[in-house]
Amino acid sequence: MKILTCIVCPVGCKIKIDENGNVLGARCDRGLSFVKRELLSPERILTTTIRVDGGIVKVVPVKSTKPIPKERLREIVRKISNISIKAPIRRGDMVYKDEEVSLIATRSVEEAKDV
Ligand code: SF4
Repeated sequence: MKILTCIVCPVGCKIKIDENGNVLGARCDRGLSFVKRELLSPERILTTTIRVDGGIVKVVPVKSTKPIPKERLREIVRKISNISIKAPIRRGDMVYKDEEVSLIATRSVEEAKDV
């Protein structure tokens, strides 16, 4: 038996898949779709940080605009670890985009003022 926690909504149903492929414990159809995706090709929203130049803080938290295949997450994080963006940044700004991933800032970063 395999047990998955559905991450589609905050309820977080514990969904059991038995040896015969029966799915138990999902309170709605979205949970069944989650199980199918999770078993065939799991995906996650990528959340990480990107370095900031000239801001009041050194990094800004970002997230992907759509789910990414789980097996690609590590490589994408490695790729974006080399970039930095210039302050000011507004929450919701698209801060990085390539053929594989688009990232938006999840907080604003003001420009540092010279003292
Ligand atoms: S199965 Fe439905 S109710 Fe349960 S966590 Fe998933 S989406 Fe939410």
